[in-house]
Amino acid sequence: MGRLTRWLAAGVLAVVGVAVSADAALGFDGFGSASTDSTYGEHITFEVDLEGGAPDDLELLIRTPGSEAAFVVPVAPDADAARYVWNTSADYVTPNTLVTYQWRAITPDGVSLSEESTYRYADDRPGLEWQRAQLGEATVHWYGNAEGQALRFGELTAIGVERAEALLGTELAGPVDVFVYDSREDFFGALGPGAREWTGAAAYSELRTIFMWLGGGSAAYLEVAMVHEVTHIVFHDATDNPYHEPARWLNEGIATWSERSEADDERAIVALEASGAGLFAFEAITEQFPIGERGGRLSYAQGTTMVDLIVNRFGEEALAAVTAAYRDGASDAQALEAGTGISADELYASFYAEFGVDPPEPVAAAPIAASDVERPPAGRTDAGGVEEPGEEPGEEPPPDETAPGEQPRPGDGAGTWVVAVVGLAVLGSVVAAVLVSRRASRRRPS
Ligand SMILES: [Zn+2]
Repeated sequence: MGRLTRWLAAGVLAVVGVAVSADAALGFDGFGSASTDSTYGEHITFEVDLEGGAPDDLELLIRTPGSEAAFVVPVAPDADAARYVWNTSADYVTPNTLVTYQWRAITPDGVSLSEESTYRYADDRPGLEWQRAQLGEATVHWYGNAEGQALRFGELTAIGVERAEALLGTELAGPVDVFVYDSREDFFGALGPGAREWTGAAAYSELRTIFMWLGGGSAAYLEVAMVHEVTHIVFHDATDNPYHEPARWLNEGIATWSERSEADDERAIVALEASGAGLFAFEAITEQFPIGERGGRLSYAQGTTMVDLIVNRFGEEALAAVTAAYRDGASDAQALEAGTGISADELYASFYAEFGVDPPEPVAAAPIAASDVERPPAGRTDAGGVEEPGEEPGEEPPPDETAPGEQPRPGDGAGTWVVAVVGLAVLGSVVAAVLVSRRASRRRPS
């Protein structure tokens, strides 16, 4: 019996009256105790007791930070309990993710929800005996002999937060966790399968979590990387809005500029590229940076140099005005204009003029040739199994990373809006056009 049918049946029974309550007393009568457990890189397991028996339908609603809605998992209950295992070996979940969840039962009497609970998914891999210390807004976590370095990161977090708050005219919206990894294997094991090999530090702004790797670079590099990453988190708070992610070049530009409050090295990179292969349009590096080394480096350099231009020409307060506009829902162009008083196009033009080049023109896409790859029979995978669509909850907000090479991670930025026009014939003669806009499936870092 389908759910709709059951609801209809419930309606009929409710009208009939008497028989319903007698029936319901024998069935599901509420949620009992619930528990959650996890092993990093393997699973998060949710369990709940079902008082009086199983409901007709049972679902687990799961939300992770930054997601706009709950992921609904249908769960087949046993007689008096239910269990859902989220396979995090197949579906990577970033450590320190705070999972919010709620059970939902559907019976002929209606819908009941369990109390909303949270569970923090910890990196509990063998050998990681975490210790921690609280320094102001930051909690630093370390293992092994990294206490001294971890405490230094805590101090740098406080310094970075204070500087970024002053620069962006905002306050940190909540605490920050900093996890300090000693070995490369431990660090990349935390970042998951999508991380680029050049990554030396990463901030997951939605999770308010920064991952540092002690082998990521020299002591001097680690110090500026720490400031860079914490600036991303303040920037996230300064621009937080329900509409879109701010331009990525601006986010990375501000984080990189904040390392030393100047852009001398980055300006040299832009000047070199301007006299060579050319520069990127800012619209082209709003959501994604190129994966390649040159493109990634130039994207960071253009962002940082543009931030330097804004600060020099319009003052640091211009950046605070830009972030305030984002908070109010401004587009990239509107936010830049709110901060500088000139249009985004004028701002871009003055940037290219500084390097003696014309603003880049769009490049026509090259045609894609027909595939000559021999494909296996449909529905089979290499492992010989039948491919199934992914059915795991949650989409991790990807990190803002820092590396000596400063290159990006692939993805799709703030999301793409897909507009479909659907024509409907109504009463044979009237045609109605319905605009359907849908946010594309994945959010990516700014
Ligand atoms: Zn960054």
